[in-house]
Amino acid sequence: MNNSFAINADLHSHSIISDGTLTPENLAERAHANGVQLWALTDHDELGGQERARQAAFALGIQYVAGVEISVSWMGQTIHIVGLGIDADHIGILEGLRQTREGRGNRAKMMAEQLLKVGIPGAYEGALQFARNEKLISRTHFARYLVEQGICADTEHVFKNYLVEDKPGFVPHVWASLDDAVSWIRDAGGVAVIAHPGRYRLSAMQMDELFKRFKDLGGLGIEVVTGSHSPSQYQTYSKIADQYGFLASRGSDFHDPNESRIDLGLLPNLPEHLTPIWSVFK
Ligand code: AMP
Ligand code: MN
Ligand code: MN
Ligand code: MN
Repeated sequence: MNNSFAINADLHSHSIISDGTLTPENLAERAHANGVQLWALTDHDELGGQERARQAAFALGIQYVAGVEISVSWMGQTIHIVGLGIDADHIGILEGLRQTREGRGNRAKMMAEQLLKVGIPGAYEGALQFARNEKLISRTHFARYLVEQGICADTEHVFKNYLVEDKPGFVPHVWASLDDAVSWIRDAGGVAVIAHPGRYRLSAMQMDELFKRFKDLGGLGIEVVTGSHSPSQYQTYSKIADQYGFLASRGSDFHDPNESRIDLGLLPNLPEHLTPIWSVFK
């Protein structure tokens, strides 16, 4: 694999198999059109799109690594761990992800009950209409329903006023443990990366504990350049990568042409002194 920091790698994206709106094939075409040379589809808690993504990438001459974004509960907050270069047929990760997905249906019904109480009916059925994979109903699908209903102008507004802590439609949920998520990824032959570390509502001390624990578990990288970080956060997490000895990842976190701030592959390069996560891919 090309070790260069300047390769156009996009190692974080979502399809209709989770909460994206494009098929794996359409994503591959879009990645290709945008000059992506190394791509990973990283659907939430799901590997159902991996074979389609791999084949579509191959047909277009894009290097592909199998990926996933695992929902994890850590100190009462939800964090996301990306697994890259995994064997998407590995039984351990498949079973772990199945368990991680399990509570989503009930959670969705409870979210809808809360929304009903603030005068928003039909949210469960409405969200389900946006979920192309009924096993993976997510807050994004609710957000699209609230936009469709004219309750919010866009999904950004939804995530400021609904579906988040202390707002209507938020239902706390216990996801996978950090230890389990990292071991599923490692057992499946992959490398574990902390997704968008700038997004978590954790104190500096809790973040330090997270980075140390993740490293102890064999976690290798953090996302530095991601669609979920501001340019100043690129700098912050570049320093964190130096400080803790993490490899650096780059990914748009693309979900949809209209919703996502950054398109597939259209991000700045990683800072040159960092070691890219793709230096360890075979
Ligand atoms: P869930 O896994 O059901 O909790 O849904 C999480 C998803 O909601 C994330 O993967 C994002 O796609 C979306 N999301 C969460 N917070 C925001 C936000 N502030 N802005 C836009 N999308 C968000
Ligand atoms: Mn998402
Ligand atoms: Mn995420
Ligand atoms: Mn994501």
